[in-house]
Amino acid sequence: MWGGKLDIVRALYLAGKSAEATEIRNSLFREKHPNSYSIIEQKVINLLQKSSYVEFTELLESIDEDITESIIFESRIKSIASIFESQNSLRGDEATIETIRDLLGFRYWIECERFSDFPEMMVSLITLILSKVGTKYELKYIRLFDSSDHPYQMASLHFKVDEILAEVIIMNLLFQSAFSRTLYPMWEGHTKERFDTTDIPFPFKEGEIDYLWGVVCHALINESAILPFPNYSCACEGHCIFRKQFQEIDLDDIRTRVERISTEYGGGFVFE
Ligand SMILES: [Zn+2]
Repeated sequence: MWGGKLDIVRALYLAGKSAEATEIRNSLFREKHPNSYSIIEQKVINLLQKSSYVEFTELLESIDEDITESIIFESRIKSIASIFESQNSLRGDEATIETIRDLLGFRYWIECERFSDFPEMMVSLITLILSKVGTKYELKYIRLFDSSDHPYQMASLHFKVDEILAEVIIMNLLFQSAFSRTLYPMWEGHTKERFDTTDIPFPFKEGEIDYLWGVVCHALINESAILPFPNYSCACEGHCIFRKQFQEIDLDDIRTRVERISTEYGGGFVFE
């Protein structure tokens, strides 16, 4: 019985349907470990009740009205099964529910025509988010991913909402489908062992960047492509058309500005 459901979890992850996969993982966890499940659940409920997370969420939601760019906003409370995994992970830095970085998780997807449009829009959105919640809630740090030659365009803002932690991620809507079918399942599958990764590539090592771009290029060109693909070479003639857009960006300038904004609100800055 578990076997069949695990195959479904794998298929959902690879199809880019991670929310549905999480739901099944969570119900499997509840069936297998009912006591652990209810203990964690009760702790989460208590912490949420003591916090003003509803107000925090509403403030983030309201940003849609103040921005000219088209954005999609998502929010979720971390599933009990994922909380259990974080608490027991070998890293050991999320041992209590209060230390789980993304107990509250929010995501903005910004609609962009090109990958090179994203950084400026991201900086505007960070400014707007901080104008809404940056004085009421403690900004711990902003993390900017080094996308100078990497398809993962991502910034995250980390807040303390009373006793719990919240992560607000900003990403490029242009990448949503390809990300959900490549980077995300490759990473979750291989590093968190959430499903059987036989035949699923993991091109995140030093010197594998061409391979990674090949995987992503395939998924961007073909919206229905699901891993494993028949081959992983970029389909563009000569230089990859997507990769080229990343190289048009002055990331040093973006990095300096994001760091300055974070400092203004008393937060730290991580660039990696
Ligand atoms: Zn390409």
